[in-house]
Amino acid sequence: MLYYSTNNTLETVSFKEAVMRGMPRDQGLYMPTEIPRVADRCNPKDLTFQEIGYNISKEFVGNEIAPNKLKDIISSTLSFDAPMVSIDKNVEMLELFHGPTLAFKDFGARFMARVMEHFVSTEDSKLTILVATSGDTGSAVANGFLDVEGIDVIILYPKNKVSNIQEKQLTTNGKNITALEVDGSFDDCQSLVKSAFVDRDLRGSMNITSANSINISRLIPQSFYYVNSLKYIDNIVFSVPSGNFGNLTAGIFAKAMGFNISRFVASTNINDVFPKYLKNKIFTPKPSVETISNAMDVGNPSNIRRLNTIFSNSVSQINQEILSWSYSDKQTLEALKFVHESCGYILDPHGAVGYLGARSYLKKFGSDGKVVVLGTAHPSKFIDSIEALDISVPIPDQVKEVLNKKKLAVSMSKTYSNFKDYILSR
Ligand SMILES: *Cc1c(COP(=O)(O)O)cnc(C)c1O
Repeated sequence: MLYYSTNNTLETVSFKEAVMRGMPRDQGLYMPTEIPRVADRCNPKDLTFQEIGYNISKEFVGNEIAPNKLKDIISSTLSFDAPMVSIDKNVEMLELFHGPTLAFKDFGARFMARVMEHFVSTEDSKLTILVATSGDTGSAVANGFLDVEGIDVIILYPKNKVSNIQEKQLTTNGKNITALEVDGSFDDCQSLVKSAFVDRDLRGSMNITSANSINISRLIPQSFYYVNSLKYIDNIVFSVPSGNFGNLTAGIFAKAMGFNISRFVASTNINDVFPKYLKNKIFTPKPSVETISNAMDVGNPSNIRRLNTIFSNSVSQINQEILSWSYSDKQTLEALKFVHESCGYILDPHGAVGYLGARSYLKKFGSDGKVVVLGTAHPSKFIDSIEALDISVPIPDQVKEVLNKKKLAVSMSKTYSNFKDYILSR
């Protein structure tokens, strides 16, 4: 499979180059030249989760990783399950938080780390990964890459804007993982990383790449669980709590592979540039606003460019596949409380936004259908907002362990020249 840039469809690169570069030189995003019709060759009902993952990824990887190696990568990526749990007669939660850092980002980060480890092992130069995080990406990436030979990871996170547990997960790894605590917002972190990628000096002196949801190797494994869900329900409507829109784009890939998915709801917090875009047909990025679902506090979601490419820049086409609504923190907390009172299930704030999206969909289209909400994080990662509602949250062992470790972070300003000096002086 070859990959092109959303800014230049004519120049193509291999899977390896798309993964290792992260972002094309022209600052577009890599896209596969074709979305393979995997559904014509495989029925999710006959396959294990790992077999689904292998069948999908082999099309995107082509012959660049040997089949047995790819099978190993898939089975060590999918070392935990994605169960579906009923909330009521219309809403199911697809729990994607049973991995080591308790968020769906473990799927993408684990696959990417193993693929990059494989490619780096065939070369002698060292690789440095820069990743901006609004919380969950950094911890999943840190965990995925910890102790990976030949790769250093530098994580940029916004000071005072991630939860205590998230910060511990980001900053306590040590070894080949460095955390930078940036005096700014997530968007500032992301723009430092973007500037580094177009900086000729930096690129000339070291081998850098990204691990944000812009990396195509993050998106591919995120399509696996959409397809796996079709074992339980046909023709699914998915509600996807969305920030940078990588998860939603992966769902669109799964549908384009021919799998029996009905439609998508892009559920956002008050960072509502996407629902506004679908309504006004004009994309207007704006600075992000802090919310309790902080992993979705994104004011200029990168993957919109992939969605535009898939739908030929036609908002009317997007509107046929994706509905989108935004919700305030107040509505989010009310939904969390309501679901806990009515069935005892504890949503996290992101899942609660997804739940609200499911409710809006059912209200608009009648309440007979079923909506599957992606449960993107375990509630213990956002314990403060949930315990404020007098709901006590069980703490998984992974979290207890990390809370006892010491924070190791380097303070960083949001000025690019300071960041660059730091990187070059390492
Ligand atoms: C990252 C994240 C999201 C948003 O996912 P995108 O792919 O950026 O849209 C939602 N929920 C949680 C818990 C996350 O960590």
